[in-house]
Amino acid sequence: MPSGGWRSGFRASGRAKGLTCHGGWHRWKLEAIEKCDIMVYTKIFLKFPYKFWPCGPGKEFFIYAHEQRGYYTFWQHMENAYPGSNMLVVTLTNEESKRVESQSDQETMKEAMGVLRDIFGPDIPEALDILVPRWYNNPYQRGSYSNYPIYADSQMVENMKAPVGRIFFTGEHTSEKFNGYVHGGYLAGELQTIFLKCL
Ligand SMILES: Cc1cc2nc3c(=O)[nH]c(=O)nc-3n(C[C@H](O)[C@H](O)[C@H](O)COP(=O)(O)OP(=O)(O)OC[C@H]3O[C@@H](n4cnc5c(N)ncnc54)[C@H](O)[C@@H]3O)c2cc1C
Repeated sequence: MPSGGWRSGFRASGRAKGLTCHGGWHRWKLEAIEKCDIMVYTKIFLKFPYKFWPCGPGKEFFIYAHEQRGYYTFWQHMENAYPGSNMLVVTLTNEESKRVESQSDQETMKEAMGVLRDIFGPDIPEALDILVPRWYNNPYQRGSYSNYPIYADSQMVENMKAPVGRIFFTGEHTSEKFNGYVHGGYLAGELQTIFLKCL
């Protein structure tokens, strides 16, 4: 289970209640889960009938500046990865991700089109479709990946990793070197498997 899932589970049940109900939930474990932040990282995909953005060498990304921090800032076309797909991706994070998750896809499409018309002018075509992932509202995720605070030390990661009774923990949030990344999750899974085999 991702660390976001553990955090929301404890918040829903209450930390103290979690401690007594589950018997072995020690303070050090609860503190590690509570202190490890969860980032929300949202890639919104928009499909168009044709390309209206510049392509070619050195022209994959474009940036939009807005007085609202993080408002549809970071854009990328999909032409290099999927030629002919006529798709754009815009990346949102944290507060903007949560705001957009809470509104309808139609509202998000309207906002994104407003930004694109600001950049490319009023004559660009309407998007045909939109995909808005909802990592924060997914009860099995509650975010995209872990983000240890700047003051985190090895002990905090050890506490995230350490078993509680017969419950074992693995995943990217238990990797000291590569937390937040796919290979962190993979390597942590491998290590935990070796540990379990030794029991
Ligand atoms: C939009 C986005 C972009 C990313 N980009 C990159 C990137 O470019 N490079 C990179 O290295 N990493 C990237 N990451 C991070 C990467 O996806 C994660 O680090 C990785 O998936 C973590 O793997 P994991 O196995 O630890 O956890 P997860 O992949 O989160 O797997 C946990 C699984 O547990 C399941 N689960 C949760 N609760 C329960 C329950 N109660 N019962 C049963 N199952 C449950 C979940 O459904 C999920 O399938 C990105 C993540 C996101 C969201």
